[in-house]
Amino acid sequence: MLTQYLLTRFRRSFHSREQLEAWQDLRVQKHIREVLKHSPFYREHFGSLSPDEWRHFPTIDKTVMMEHFDRLNTAGIKKAEAFQLAMRAEESRDFTPTIRGITIGLSSGTSGNRGLFLVSEKERYRWAGTMLAKLLPGSLLDRHHIAFFLRANSNLYTSVERGRIQFRFFDLLRPVKEHIEQLNSFQPTILVGPPSMLRFLAEQQQLQQLNIHPQKVISVAEVLDPLDEAVISRAFQQTVHQVYQCTEGFLAVTCPYGTLHINEDIVVIQKEMLDPDTGKFSPIITDFSRWTQPILRYRLNDILTERKTPCPCGSVFLAIEQIEGRCDDLFYFRSLSSDQLVPVFPDFIRRAIITADEEIEEYLAIQHSPEQVEISLRTAAVNNRGPIRQNILASLEKLCDHLGCLSPSVRFTSYSRKPGATKLRRVERKFPLQQ
Ligand SMILES: [Zn+2]
Repeated sequence: MLTQYLLTRFRRSFHSREQLEAWQDLRVQKHIREVLKHSPFYREHFGSLSPDEWRHFPTIDKTVMMEHFDRLNTAGIKKAEAFQLAMRAEESRDFTPTIRGITIGLSSGTSGNRGLFLVSEKERYRWAGTMLAKLLPGSLLDRHHIAFFLRANSNLYTSVERGRIQFRFFDLLRPVKEHIEQLNSFQPTILVGPPSMLRFLAEQQQLQQLNIHPQKVISVAEVLDPLDEAVISRAFQQTVHQVYQCTEGFLAVTCPYGTLHINEDIVVIQKEMLDPDTGKFSPIITDFSRWTQPILRYRLNDILTERKTPCPCGSVFLAIEQIEGRCDDLFYFRSLSSDQLVPVFPDFIRRAIITADEEIEEYLAIQHSPEQVEISLRTAAVNNRGPIRQNILASLEKLCDHLGCLSPSVRFTSYSRKPGATKLRRVERKFPLQQ
């Protein structure tokens, strides 16, 4: 872990994109040669292609990975046994068991669509080293209390605990009142959690129920909505940092300026452009640090926006303006000029709503059909919601005009969501797309 920490923090510095890409190219080729020896799936999938052509290898996605799980991983672990162990851990809330030393994790997701991840002990400590190097303010020798809010704990996370670094898992399934008491006594120096929970804690801090002074606040696991970011940042008086991590890997982290940079010292991201004008793309990941469960040319179903201006921190790692959500949450409205449906990025919907009126405190936008959108609102003014609704309708109409599509009919409902077990998606499409 220490080696990885020191390498990440001090040794590896890249002066240009060319230098970084040349280094990555060698690492990836070497990695692929090793993986091909041990993963029957990849051997067949890439066929006779040479490792130096890896940038053009056929892609895989979550469905393919889960379908070929048994022959894709290099540890000979079967999907059925991994699922069984992971489900048992979720029920008992004891997340320590492993299979032959391999940590098993389960991603959140709709049932039937949950991803499994496998991490060996060596990978686990390397991950911890990278994580600490990229996230820890100050040095490894400083004393730290890390409070980590998650749906499930993992050996992965507890491996950051050592010496002066204390780690505490806060189970999102426990009552929130308990969390407040425990946080007040634990006094975290680093607070990590999904933005829905951070937002709730921020409000408790403002109500003086919670009284903590973290040096760093880190958002994980959900899209960080600008509306929530503002509240969290104000309550804790600092920049809200982000970690972009999923079953597929530790993909990005914010620099001291709060800009997300892809961890290009462990993964290569190729861009599948969704909209060149706005710089929106889906990432294709090749992770050259994951061995037990190799992730090669993996198409992730997320929408990212590339940052157009260089980050003042000077890092050559790809800078991301925002992580927007999943491709499944693209809205589709009827076109005015054809019988096609027009895709609308979640971020366009998000901005149309939150810029419509300053009184909006929280919202959910759910698309039920191409003609029907539901918007749940929590507003500062409780009584006079008419004008706020009118402003939102006008804002959405303007967006639809601009995109050449028919405005949907909007049903307003009141906001009743509580932070906890389910993942917050402020913009969500609930009908399947007919292909
Ligand atoms: Zn930066």
